[in-house]
Amino acid sequence: MSSHINQISERPVALVTGSTRGIGAAIALELAQNGFNLAINGRSPEEQVIPLINKIQSFGVKAIYIRADVSIGEDRNLILKELKEKFGRIDILVNNAGVAPEVRRDILEVTEESFDRVMAINLKGPFFLTQLIAKWMIELKKERGDIDPIIINISSISSYTSSPERAEYCISKAGVSMMTKLYAHRLSEYGIRVYEIRPGIILTDMTMPVKQKYDRLIAEGLTPIKRWGRPEDVAKAVVAIAKGYFPFSTGEVFNVDGGFHLRRL
Ligand code: NAP
Repeated sequence: MSSHINQISERPVALVTGSTRGIGAAIALELAQNGFNLAINGRSPEEQVIPLINKIQSFGVKAIYIRADVSIGEDRNLILKELKEKFGRIDILVNNAGVAPEVRRDILEVTEESFDRVMAINLKGPFFLTQLIAKWMIELKKERGDIDPIIINISSISSYTSSPERAEYCISKAGVSMMTKLYAHRLSEYGIRVYEIRPGIILTDMTMPVKQKYDRLIAEGLTPIKRWGRPEDVAKAVVAIAKGYFPFSTGEVFNVDGGFHLRRL
């Protein structure tokens, strides 16, 4: 692979972590339809991602796949290197990659192994990837006036909702919420804005194992908007932010949860 930039992208560039499927893939598709070049990321083999790449390219934008595990430092460096070589710029970072615990265990039984795995992927990965990308965004912002860098973190209603059968997930997402505030504060002097999207119950591979439980809870009125969330619901919120329509807001939280967060009487 060449070590120089082929050509600096004229279109704005978005990196969406964990975008081989689910919410991340929907975000990538929606951004592509809005004119962004895309870096797709995940751990799947490249051949599994080809249909998605083709679909994104059918919107007339460029898409690359960076196979990398966000929890591993070397892989995060690879992401930066590939972005620099293939696009020469970054406008939008969407920290979306995330996992549920492999086994739902009561908080009194959670293992260190599961705790470390979930925290590494859901919190340590995005924390240090943001550090890496933000430093490049700072450089880019100084070099050229036409870039408006934005970072969007996908947290969850679990960042404030207690589910003792997946404590490590809830703690990791609470960490993502604090990470949003910290980076929003620190990066404001460079004109880089940071936002958080809190999805509710969204129909993806992640929620498939608990589909029946949530079907019942939604039917019983768990959410004011009585339906499952769709990956596209989250994707639309990402695009609204990525298009720059919130120029005087940072550290802002967008609930995409059918109203789950409302206290009700
Ligand atoms: P999903 O369908 O299970 O997809 C997860 C994505 O993350 C896949 O593309 C997967 O790619 C990627 N991924 C997993 N581990 C990774 C790693 N170590 N490095 C890089 N990529 C990795 O999940 P989803 O429901 O779309 O969830 C996406 C995000 O939304 C997560 O952060 C999740 O916590 C959050 N969220 C989901 C819901 C929901 O109800 N579904 C609700 C609130 C928040 P590979 O398989 O190719 O590795």
